[in-house]
Amino acid sequence: MCKNFTAAFVYAHPDDETFGCSYLIQDITDRGGQAVLLTATRGEAGKTGRLGEMSREELAARRDQELEQAANVLGISAVKQLDLGDGKLKDADPERLQQEIADFLNLHQADIVVTFPEDGISGHQDHIVIHHAVNSVIYGGKASSVQKLYYNHLGSPLSDMSGMSGLLRIDGEGKWDIKRRALEAHESQMFSVERVFGQLGPNMLPQYRYETFELVWERHPSAKSMPEKSVFDGLEAGEDLN
Ligand SMILES: [Zn+2]
Repeated sequence: MCKNFTAAFVYAHPDDETFGCSYLIQDITDRGGQAVLLTATRGEAGKTGRLGEMSREELAARRDQELEQAANVLGISAVKQLDLGDGKLKDADPERLQQEIADFLNLHQADIVVTFPEDGISGHQDHIVIHHAVNSVIYGGKASSVQKLYYNHLGSPLSDMSGMSGLLRIDGEGKWDIKRRALEAHESQMFSVERVFGQLGPNMLPQYRYETFELVWERHPSAKSMPEKSVFDGLEAGEDLN
């Protein structure tokens, strides 16, 4: 067993990765895995926070830099951004979006995929489009390296989900500092950061201690113990079958 496993995060906008899975990305790199990120847009329709007026092109360029910085903080090893129109993903050609996702997963030989749940976490239409596009790629057999698919459940009250067996909770203990720095990197989005996480400070607020992921599909369901401790649980067995 010498392969470094790769987890691919497929999202809509720069910052989705930091909001929802900063702890998970740290957990993956701590375990010797790789995290790679695909965003379908450059986030040019977002607000500009305290940075003042910007054109869409200026904001896109700014957010490219912010994402690069956040990815460095988090330890993401590769980032690809498509430019399919922030706020307009439902108008993008679904075949093209699926092909881009499949190409990205195949290029990186991703073992794990993490994306939005059906409600898009926040109900954002772009997030929901990504959810369905990733499902089409995985369930349509277009990414043969992928062994497991997870949905990211940021913000879902744990009490609603305690009966679900396929939940992986990542404890942010010792991981908040990096999440905070990655959130700060998304400076243009600071108003939405603060709306979700409050004023950023050195101490992790208890309600942000965990990130929660739902295992929804496995290529080779294994007899591992549940709940899982890591997204890589059970993968060795899958490797042997290849
Ligand atoms: Zn988003």
